[in-house]
Amino acid sequence: MRQKRYIALSPLLKRIKFYFDLFSKTNDNYICAIDLQNPMILLSPNMVTDFALPGTVLDSMEKYWVPLIHPEDRGIYETAIREMLIERKRNDYDIEYRVRDSRGEYCWIRCRGRLATNHEGKPTLFAGAMARMGRRNQADSVTGLLNKYQFEHGVSLALSEYRATGKGGALILLGLDNFKIINETYNRFFGDAVLKTMAREIDNILPSMFILYKLDGDEFGIIYPEASESDVEELFASIQKCLMRPHTMDGKMYFCTISAGTVFYPAFGKDYLVLHKHAEAALDMAKRNGKNRNCIFTKEHYNRWVRSISMRDNLRISVEAGCEGFSLFYQPQMQAKGTQIMGAEALLRWKNPKGRMVAPMEFIPILEETKLIIPVGRWILEEAVKTCMKWQKILPDFTMSVNVSYEQIKDSSFKEFIQECLPKYGIRPDTLILELTESSIVSDWGFVNKQFDFYRSIGIKIAMDDFGTGYSSLVYLKNLSCDIVKVDRAFVSNILESKFDLHLVEYTANLCHSVGMEVCCEGVEKNEEYQMLLDVCNVDMVQGYLFGHPEIEENFEKKFLESYNEQK
Ligand code: C2E
Ligand code: CA
Ligand code: CA
Repeated sequence: MRQKRYIALSPLLKRIKFYFDLFSKTNDNYICAIDLQNPMILLSPNMVTDFALPGTVLDSMEKYWVPLIHPEDRGIYETAIREMLIERKRNDYDIEYRVRDSRGEYCWIRCRGRLATNHEGKPTLFAGAMARMGRRNQADSVTGLLNKYQFEHGVSLALSEYRATGKGGALILLGLDNFKIINETYNRFFGDAVLKTMAREIDNILPSMFILYKLDGDEFGIIYPEASESDVEELFASIQKCLMRPHTMDGKMYFCTISAGTVFYPAFGKDYLVLHKHAEAALDMAKRNGKNRNCIFTKEHYNRWVRSISMRDNLRISVEAGCEGFSLFYQPQMQAKGTQIMGAEALLRWKNPKGRMVAPMEFIPILEETKLIIPVGRWILEEAVKTCMKWQKILPDFTMSVNVSYEQIKDSSFKEFIQECLPKYGIRPDTLILELTESSIVSDWGFVNKQFDFYRSIGIKIAMDDFGTGYSSLVYLKNLSCDIVKVDRAFVSNILESKFDLHLVEYTANLCHSVGMEVCCEGVEKNEEYQMLLDVCNVDMVQGYLFGHPEIEENFEKKFLESYNEQK
């Protein structure tokens, strides 16, 4: 307990004290009067008790009141005071902010105040009334569920419970998958209606002792006291099952899956902000690992997540500096018969600002996610085409394969960029191959095919990358118009041991040949593999360490092109 302090009242406050007391006794609001000339503050007694203030007379609001205001809301308070007292823009204010009460919990208050001025227009007295805002502001306006502030409150109660009893639990964040697509495909009203339905359905299946909170955007929160990992998994599975069936609204059918991020307290945090951050990280990971799953937060996860956040910033720095730190390596692609060099695949490399090489599998997904792949993709294309021009002076039919992401295909200006780039370096379109990773295609065959048709109509070749790795490769093959299918290394490296893999490659090659497509096998490391691919599978092209590793431009020239140069 802080000691009560007694301060003699200023003459102005003394004069109004009678009315002040009368008013505070007949009213539930918190009231305060401030003598501005002779800085001193008079507070109603309920304010002293409810906010553990040192007494009804104070000499400063800065010292006692401001520290109780929620850090996020201090700006609102300070702006209102500044505009009224210093900038003299107004004589009153009406603001809402959160204040920590004597129980240590934040409550929302609405604060209305007015200035009185003297005959010279100078502020003399400020009088304010503050009201606690009951359930208003506690509910989410779309779903009617308790909102994120109540979630925060609920978490702090759960943590107090832990401190009192030693019993921990879990925080679960739920996020609807692809909600953005629903919003974009239809409209916000439809999106809101979907949120409402989902909220109702999840709420219905939650055991009655749980509260479902609606957080920002498409996220929900649940606090699960005394939970074990299997409790959480079980709860999540039941939510998943309930949402998974197709839903219809206004005659429109939609599917919605959900991802979750779970963090256990106190093991991974003893305060709301830390726990929330960790649960967000887990949810983010669940979404990145393919969505429709729950990810439980571990320390290792956290470190990885932090790395990817800093990588995002570093990639942006590199891109803004004109793609500094990026470079291309080239791996030879050979004609299967006779192993003559046919061309090269350009493979992106990146050195972070500290000079460390980062694996493409780590940074390319981030480039795609942040859409930085669009500027980087242009840089890659131009670099690769430039190099191709050089090498076509040695081998006129030299082909250059460039990897492109779905994001780049979606960007319609990429087409124009390619059309400008090829003549600029004098490259024939039929010596450029665009490799598209199938797993990166989400939906919309129609659109992708239209883009492919355009590229093919001007002579550019299209290759389907990583054939066999996705769960629907044959569907892709059936639906996409392409010129070359690249069979993934996973099959090639198994053909010596697995008859299934061997036949898969063989049949894929037959199927492709029957419709005029060519087949390139990636990741050929052993001579026996190569022989098998040539003799049994009859593939057209091969690529892999057996023929050459990815190399920088200079080394590629030395290793694979110098002999031709000498012949000329
Ligand atoms: P990818 O397109 O399937 O590229 C082939 C990957 O296999 C390359 O890895 C290459 O170095 C590796 N590789 C080639 N031959 C062998 C072999 O015989 N054995 C083994 N073990 N590996 C082999 P890398 O360079 O790490 O690239 C990984 C992936 O990153 C690429 O897979 C591609 O999906 C993506 N990528 C690389 N460069 C670009 C780019 O410029 N743009 C885009 N969008 N994606 C790129
Ligand atoms: Ca590729
Ligand atoms: Ca591949």
